[in-house]
Amino acid sequence: MALIVQKFGGTSVGSVERIQAVAERVYKTVKAGNSIVVVVSAMGKTTDGLVKLATEISPNPNRREMDMLLSTGEQVTIALLSMALQELGQPAISMTGAQVGIVTEAEHSRARILHIETTRLNRHINEGKVVVVAGFQGISSAGEMEITTLGRGGSDTSAVAIAAALKANFCEIYTDVPGILTTDPRLVAEAQLMDAITCDEMLELASLGAKVLHPRAVEIARNYGVPLVVRSSWTDQPGTWVTSAKPQGRSLINLEIARPVDAVEFDTNQAKVALLRVPDKPGVAARLFGEISRQKVDVDLIIQSVHEGNSNDIAFTVTTPILKRAEAVATAIAPALRSQSHPKSDEAEVMIENNIAKVSIAGAGMIGRPGVAAKMFATLAEAGVNIQMISTSEVKVSCVVDASECDRAVLALRSAFEIEAGEEGTRGQGGQGRQGRIIEQTSPLSSPSPLSPLSSSSPPVRGVALDLNQARLAIRQLPDRPGMAAKLFGLLAQHNISVDMIIQSQRCRVINGVPRRDIAFTVSRIDGENAREMLTQVAAELGWGEVVLDSAIAKVSIVGAGMVGQPGIAAKMFEALAQQQINIQMIATSEIKISCVVAQEQGVKALQAIHAAFELAGSEKFVVPA
Ligand code: ASP
Ligand code: MG
Repeated sequence: MALIVQKFGGTSVGSVERIQAVAERVYKTVKAGNSIVVVVSAMGKTTDGLVKLATEISPNPNRREMDMLLSTGEQVTIALLSMALQELGQPAISMTGAQVGIVTEAEHSRARILHIETTRLNRHINEGKVVVVAGFQGISSAGEMEITTLGRGGSDTSAVAIAAALKANFCEIYTDVPGILTTDPRLVAEAQLMDAITCDEMLELASLGAKVLHPRAVEIARNYGVPLVVRSSWTDQPGTWVTSAKPQGRSLINLEIARPVDAVEFDTNQAKVALLRVPDKPGVAARLFGEISRQKVDVDLIIQSVHEGNSNDIAFTVTTPILKRAEAVATAIAPALRSQSHPKSDEAEVMIENNIAKVSIAGAGMIGRPGVAAKMFATLAEAGVNIQMISTSEVKVSCVVDASECDRAVLALRSAFEIEAGEEGTRGQGGQGRQGRIIEQTSPLSSPSPLSPLSSSSPPVRGVALDLNQARLAIRQLPDRPGMAAKLFGLLAQHNISVDMIIQSQRCRVINGVPRRDIAFTVSRIDGENAREMLTQVAAELGWGEVVLDSAIAKVSIVGAGMVGQPGIAAKMFEALAQQQINIQMIATSEIKISCVVAQEQGVKALQAIHAAFELAGSEKFVVPA
């Protein structure tokens, strides 16, 4: 006997027949001895239809009235589904978000959940009723009890939050696809269904999985340890489990707005190897990292920033004990990477930096909050810490700094992000190095940890994502001193522009006595032109060089918790691209993700090549619903 939250999406409740089919499925689960809370979306494309009506009246409708309007869609479904259950002889009751007490911030159209009242829900459950709750909506607590909505796709979030509040045994998300696939089946026909994926992997795959499962829902599942499964409404197939580490008793107050960052990590046991001025052409990264992996050198961060002229810099970090080996490989291969036309030039110089540390902030809460990276950079600037390299992923920002500044950086970040908990420090293998992860006491461990049920069996690459909706901005010759990144990303955050990948170049040049570096980052394509204009306006005043926008890019990423500590994964990805003659424009990594920026028209080909290289192809073909 379990308490299960079942969520049915718009297509699953798109007609009277489908609502009746849902009722049958719910009824069967009850008869098997379970208690059920059902969360539903609006029928079919109802929400889109309502949005259209509103825009026919006003080009810019009032957000409060929009919530009033859109929340009606789900209210239709809950009533009809309750009736359908009652027709089957199953006691059921429908409830709006307000009736349940799904209390949210007073932010219309994008409210986050603060907490969920469970008294009335529990009473009805104990009476043997199925409670049918309207997804996507809540009520603001402050004074006026306003109806709010959680943002498009928000009923997944409602379902998982209710499961967390009720401490349900698990939450099932029923949808029109069989589960989570290794990649987008519209682009790669051989995409394969996954049995399981961790919440961390799912969050890093946001651009792949967001349509199937709202990232905010994954964030809640991860924070509260809610077992989650994504399944098809049309079959009895098991679907994909989205797993998380054991919950550690996080408070259910401020459910969604707790903290954007829940760990500060550091590692002084790192050294940096940089190859400067390697030719900007297909195959270079593949050769370099191919050789490195043949020598069984495990690399951690890999960073390649935007090219300058026809050359690039590629930098990577390794643990100190294997630095000598990594350096030897890089030095041996450097001459071979030099361009044929200028064999004697100063190309492909190898640079080693021993005294570095990596400091990172991690947390699912940084998704969609543009100010988090900026706050990290500002904090480091205030502490007088200069950032040598930056690499970001969906849920992590890592900075390479001078080793002597590591402690100061960590201290400043802990206080800025209010992380006051126990430290899980370990000594580096090399003896001198220190590694640690300072986590908020009540938060689960996000990285692959011994607690994670999948960590031992995780494949190195779980899925491959392609994002065709980004643009790249590069700022040339930013003065290399504390505070510049903070200024830049602070400005973007102020303009509500979310930044995805951030890469600071390795190459440093001195102009008018000031050392300068380029910094490149990606944003949503729709923000590209605005960002360029805004940054160009301040460039002169802040002493920056040119601001360059490239809208014709694509980002391909591989994600897998099993790539940690396994050499050769990056090399395989780069090799797959090289074989297709695809030039890599930028590289950024986190522990469980490697992303490359390539030309937009090569995006799909890149995705297909990488998916095939990691043997993710399945035999079953998925029919993509229209
Ligand atoms: N009906 C809402 C939407 O279409 C919420 C949801 O279905 O998740 O965005
Ligand atoms: Mg949805």
